[in-house]
Amino acid sequence: MDNPIPRKDKCRTCEKMAAMGEEEFNRITDQYLSREEHRVNLVSREETIRRLEICHSCDSLSGGVTCEHCACLVPVMVRLKSKSCPRPGGGRW
Ligand code: SF4
Repeated sequence: MDNPIPRKDKCRTCEKMAAMGEEEFNRITDQYLSREEHRVNLVSREETIRRLEICHSCDSLSGGVTCEHCACLVPVMVRLKSKSCPRPGGGRW
């Protein structure tokens, strides 16, 4: 199904995040997710991988790291129990 939301211009923050080295990006996301309030709300590794694979095949993934529908950083949001795919018309996970 086609995305009913028109794609916007590329987000500069997304481009910066995409240009960031993998090591630096992982350091920042791990630091964020290691906060106490997030640690108890992480999904399993299997669920993280399942969600990531869906996002990586989605045309709403911008710059390889950001969801165009919520501007969330996908590598972070896929790890949180409280998050779900915000795609209009029905989330993919
Ligand atoms: S969260 Fe949903 S809409 Fe966003 S990139 Fe992932 S699969 Fe696509």
